[in-house]
Amino acid sequence: MSSFSELDLSASMRANLQKLGYDNPTPVQASALPPALQGRDVIAQAQTGSGKTAAFGIPVIEKLDVASFSVQALVLCPTRELADQVAKSLRELARAKDNVKIISLCGGVSIGPQIGSLSHGAHLVVGTPGRIQDHLRKGTLKLNRLSTLILDEADRMLDMGFEEAVEDIIGQAPADRQTLMFSATWPKAIRVLSERYQRAPVDVRIEQADVVSDISETFYELSPGQQLEALQALLSTHQPDSCIAFCNTKQQCDEVSAALNERGFSALALHGDLEQRDRDSVLVRFGNKSCSVLVATDVAARGLDIKSLPLVVNVEPARDSEVHIHRIGRTGRAGEQGLAVTFCTPAQSHKINRLESRRGLAVEWGNTAELLATPLKPVTPVMKTLCIAGGRKDKVRPGDVLGALTGEAGLPGNVVGKIDLFDFQCFVAVEKSAAATALKRLENGRIKGRKMRVRYA
Ligand code: AMP
Repeated sequence: MSSFSELDLSASMRANLQKLGYDNPTPVQASALPPALQGRDVIAQAQTGSGKTAAFGIPVIEKLDVASFSVQALVLCPTRELADQVAKSLRELARAKDNVKIISLCGGVSIGPQIGSLSHGAHLVVGTPGRIQDHLRKGTLKLNRLSTLILDEADRMLDMGFEEAVEDIIGQAPADRQTLMFSATWPKAIRVLSERYQRAPVDVRIEQADVVSDISETFYELSPGQQLEALQALLSTHQPDSCIAFCNTKQQCDEVSAALNERGFSALALHGDLEQRDRDSVLVRFGNKSCSVLVATDVAARGLDIKSLPLVVNVEPARDSEVHIHRIGRTGRAGEQGLAVTFCTPAQSHKINRLESRRGLAVEWGNTAELLATPLKPVTPVMKTLCIAGGRKDKVRPGDVLGALTGEAGLPGNVVGKIDLFDFQCFVAVEKSAAATALKRLENGRIKGRKMRVRYA
């Protein structure tokens, strides 16, 4: 499909698109619109700016029955900013029809006026999961007539800890609905969500994501004892926001991470000796970008659901080729370019020879002298983690934390990163520049009407 005229659209929608200056469909629209207009489920890979809102907005508005004052479509978004933006775009698209009522229901603002607007009836609702749940619980929002459910930025919703809320909401929607899901990235959790709640979805992925992986690999020969210096040089050169450095022993993990921290990098060690609580905290801080280097053993890193990393370093070559391939597979995922670097001393070169014979291909060696001459430039993470002394068992939900930060504390939603909820505590990543304000406001404010202890993790 290369033109809107090829689609079975109403004349008024066609005229409206022209007025909006939508001359030709964007790639995600070209792939998602035909099945979505047929009423099929779609799972699409799409970033902000890809035109994804119209990809679901056009079909939703085309099938809307304005005469029926019931909620016919619900769009779930991770943040208020996105919800407002989506509502605005939907209003533009809805000019193709008379009297379409669209409301947005987000946390961080008082619920009373929202209840008022809902009581006047609405066709389309856009909102954040926590607040939508509140309305469902109060009975002020009903989904019994819902025909389309949209999950926008589904990966970000999962990142922010909204999984349970999203599943709860889906569970209250009619089974014969159409479900459209949009996600910028494609982690396993997204595929699981789709399998669980979509029916024979049409898979719309922009081609590059189909590339299995795009990993470039470099090996450096080092003298024994040069690993730390080489690692710092590598980090200084590439400035990765996230990197795993693999070591073979726990002791080496501790030494390497301590040395990196001493030199101004932000590193955390992950190995089998950590208590579960410490392990959680390490993974949270690495996963939410408030620590940039994870120094890990293979065993500790097994089973980590860590997304595509720009850089993976083997501080020591892996035990065998199998492990090597597994390690470097953490970079270059989902069509992104990744770099895997392996350090090797002459005494370890047999491991590289084995790798070469297994692959039937010679590895590429980098220039060690050049690498070691790199001036030191520590990588500083963009986020900082706050730890709140309240969790699931205290009935804290991600929406409460987001609400406390963006509502009373007055921070814009886009400075808030991942929210990780545990039984007795909750971690929230905040952009570093806003962290001090966030901490102060949370300390002085309330979460779920209660004062909770807050500290930097
Ligand atoms: P979105 O990714 O949905 O946030 O859309 C990004 C921007 O692209 C919005 O400002 C839309 O108004 C605009 N847009 C969406 N579809 C088209 C199109 N087919 N042609 C031109 N602009 C578009």
